[in-house]
Amino acid sequence: MKFLSKEIKNLKGKTALVRIDLNIGETKNLKKHPRIKGAIQTIKFLRANDCRVVLLSHRGRIKTETDKKNLSLKPFAKVFSDILDTQVDFVDYKKISTPSVQTLSMLIKKSKKKSVFLLENTRFFNGEEKNEIQLAKRLANFGDFFVNDAFSVSHRANSSVCAITKFLPSYVGLLLERELKELSAVLQSPTKPLIVILGGAKISDKIGLINNFKNKAEKFLLGGGIANTLFAYDGLPVGDSLYEKDINLDFLKNIRKKIILPSQVNIFDRKILDISPEAVREFEKEILKAKTIIWNGPMGYFEDKRFAKGTETLKKSVLKNKTAKIIIGGGETAALFTGVNQKNIFVSSGGGAMLEFLSGVKLPGIEVLK
Ligand code: ADP
Ligand code: MG
Repeated sequence: MKFLSKEIKNLKGKTALVRIDLNIGETKNLKKHPRIKGAIQTIKFLRANDCRVVLLSHRGRIKTETDKKNLSLKPFAKVFSDILDTQVDFVDYKKISTPSVQTLSMLIKKSKKKSVFLLENTRFFNGEEKNEIQLAKRLANFGDFFVNDAFSVSHRANSSVCAITKFLPSYVGLLLERELKELSAVLQSPTKPLIVILGGAKISDKIGLINNFKNKAEKFLLGGGIANTLFAYDGLPVGDSLYEKDINLDFLKNIRKKIILPSQVNIFDRKILDISPEAVREFEKEILKAKTIIWNGPMGYFEDKRFAKGTETLKKSVLKNKTAKIIIGGGETAALFTGVNQKNIFVSSGGGAMLEFLSGVKLPGIEVLK
C-alpha cells in the first residue's frame, strides 16, 4: 500500500482526486460534523504540498429525480470554502457528464496550485454502485492521482472507491491510514483482557465481529436490541421490545459464559427500551479491568432522553478507563463521543465498514490499494 503521508514528496504540485465521505443528511452545523472534520486534515496536507484538490463523495440514496434536488453536494462547497478560507468551486452533474469533460479537467489541472474543487454526488451517476468502469474512467480525468480517505465506504465496491484505482496511481489518505493502524492493531495483537460491548438494533449485523472475537475476548457486554434478542432466545417474555425473531443463535453456545446480559432493564409500554444504571455498574467492573475495549451500538432507544440513561452511564464508565485502548464505532455510538478528547479513545469513522473490518473480512476498497 502506498501511504500519502510517506509518498507526498513525489506528488507535489499535482492534482489529487480525493474520495471522502460526505454522506450527511442534515445541512445544519456542518462545520462541526465529524465527517467534515475528518476530511480536512488530508485536504490541508495536500494543499500545504502545493497540490490541487478535487473532492469526490456520495450522499444519500437516489431513487427519484427529486432526491437529486435534496442530495446535491453543492451546499458543501460553501462549507469547505469557509473552513479552508479559500474559494471551493463546485462542479455540477452536467459538467461531469458532458463529452467535453476532458477540457474541463484540463482546466482544473492547470488551475492555480492549492485550488480546491468539489464534484457533484457520485450517486447521481447510475454506474457508481455498480462499480462501473466507464464512470471510473470519466472521474479519473479529474486527477493525476487518487486518494482514498473514506474508510466508512471502503466496504463497498463502488466506482469512486474501487474501479477508479484502475486508472490512477492510488494512495491511502491520512484518515484512512489512522483507521487502518488503529483497527489492525486491535484485530491482530490486542492487549488483553479484551472486552466487546455491543448494543444497537440487530445482532445479525454483528455476528461476524462476535465470531472473530469469540476466542480473543474475555467478555461480551450486551445491551439494546441485541440483549432483547438473547432474552427472547432464552424464552424470556420481551413483550413488544425491539428484537430479532427467527434468528439462529446456536453459534453463541460455546461462549455463553463470556456473555453478560443486563441484570435490570427499563421497561415502558411493554417494551424494554434501556438498560438500567445497576446493570451498567456490573458492566463497569469488566470495563475497568479491560486493556482493550471495543464498543459498537447504544444500550437502548437513546434518541428519547428518557431511555438514554443506560447509554450515557455506560459512556461515563468507559471514560473512567484511561489506559485501555478503546475503539468506538457505529454511526450512533460515534456521535455520542463527539467532542470527547481522551488519548486512549479512538472513534472510528466507519459504521458498517468497521464491523466488517473487525470481522476479519477483506474490504474491497482497501484491497484495491494493495
Ligand atoms: P450504530 O449506528 O451505533 O451501529 P445501530 O445502528 O446498530 O447502532 O443501532 C442504533 C439504533 O438502535 C438506535 O436508533 C437505537 O434507538 C436503537 N435501539 C437500541 N436499543 C433499543 C431498544 N431497546 N429499543 C428500541 N430501539 C433500540
Ligand atoms: Mg446505525
